[in-house]
Amino acid sequence: MSVQVQTPWQAGTECVANYDFQRRTDQDLPFTKGEVLTIVAVTRDPNWYKAKNKVGQVGFIPANYVQKREGVKAGTKLSLMPWFHGKITREQAERLLYPPETGLFLVRESTNYPGDYTLCVSCEGKVEHYRIIYKSGKLTIDEEAYFDNLMQLVEHYTNDADGLCTSLMKPKLMEGTVAAQDEFSRSGWALKMKDLTLLQTIGKGEFGDVMLGDYRGSKVAVKCIKNDATAQAFVAEALVMTQLRHKNLVQLLGVIVEDKSSLFIVTEFMAKGSLVDYLRSRGRSVLGGECLLKFSLDVSEGMEYLEDNNFVHRDLAARNVLVSEDNIAKVSDFGLTKEASATQDTSKLPVKWTAPEALREKLFSTKSDVWSFGILLWEIYSFGRVPYPRIALKDVVPRVEKGYKMDAPDGCPAIVYELMKQCWHLDSNQRPSFRKLREQLEHIKAKELYQ
Ligand code: ADP
Ligand code: MG
Repeated sequence: MSVQVQTPWQAGTECVANYDFQRRTDQDLPFTKGEVLTIVAVTRDPNWYKAKNKVGQVGFIPANYVQKREGVKAGTKLSLMPWFHGKITREQAERLLYPPETGLFLVRESTNYPGDYTLCVSCEGKVEHYRIIYKSGKLTIDEEAYFDNLMQLVEHYTNDADGLCTSLMKPKLMEGTVAAQDEFSRSGWALKMKDLTLLQTIGKGEFGDVMLGDYRGSKVAVKCIKNDATAQAFVAEALVMTQLRHKNLVQLLGVIVEDKSSLFIVTEFMAKGSLVDYLRSRGRSVLGGECLLKFSLDVSEGMEYLEDNNFVHRDLAARNVLVSEDNIAKVSDFGLTKEASATQDTSKLPVKWTAPEALREKLFSTKSDVWSFGILLWEIYSFGRVPYPRIALKDVVPRVEKGYKMDAPDGCPAIVYELMKQCWHLDSNQRPSFRKLREQLEHIKAKELYQ
């Protein structure tokens, strides 16, 4: 017989409490369900660890009360609608729902009525196919109950058969996908809605509102989804964020997928908003050279971490850098971040920030992020101006391809302008790495060359 020996958790490992724990001695650290704790040290007893809570209190905790937090494995296909099988035929659906099991279901695109869907449910040995009609922006089966999206529809018929042969009991999962909710729970990133209070809207994202919230007494930012198609993009963003941890990256706190019709991504709250707004509103009279250099250095450190971990951001710009209460700049908006090598649709790209080879041939790399970093430096030193002023958007790419580079912003130290120009090498191999950029910025800081 083999005994499974669990490798001990290292100092720095994060855990989430699965139960409340009351202290037995004053050396114990009490905690409540849902709290995040950081391991400080192992003890002689493998069932106990020394840990630290959010406010810095240290004590012993029982290992079986907590769950280790992990990054969700890269490449996992998380789906909010794992029961959605896309364009498959009636016959394929019936094969998928075999052997019969009452309540087993899937949703497919309708073959007879393009634009509509079909709900297929196994029921006492037979498969029923219900047409889901798309009618003036809503989905319905019986023209009595209407839904904004498939997730809401499935939620409804899970709770109540409401005229169907059975309620929906068990999703037939699409091959290769994992239910997002299950995976976030398993890896320790699922938060509870009851612990979160939404307070006010603080930003408008492309996909939905960003709200200020209170999570167990801490201020947090909450990205709220608008509908099901975009929710899937949010899941991808959250997945990336579970794998990243650095002081200059906006930190993910968790995800709420409880209510099937909504998805919330909870991150640390960045009190001073986006860097571009910060630069514009304070301006030259408030922000000195030391401060601009500090922001540049902060971003370079976050990007060096991404470089070391083979993550390409693809949308680095001052609008996607946020500033914390204590003036630390952190990179955010990982929506487009993919592990190096993946390619994507170029039609929606921010032209003025994107490297020429990325626009032309979809060649995204850490070196195309370096190009964007050069533009970001220009934004910082021009206090948030839009790049390529006075050049029409359609002329930007042709001129850049011919070697045009922006002038130094007014008052920008020559040594910083040199860095920008290195980032804008047409040959991506000639651009410096983020490590190099960070070292040079540190050098400028140490020698006080930022005046
Ligand atoms: P999108 O992905 O659509 O660009 P963002 O993540 O950039 O959305 O968020 C839009 C705006 O919401 C930001 O410009 C910022 O003003 C605000 N915001 C986003 N995240 C936070 C945060 N963690 N703290 C404070 N404000 C935030
Ligand atoms: Mg953004």
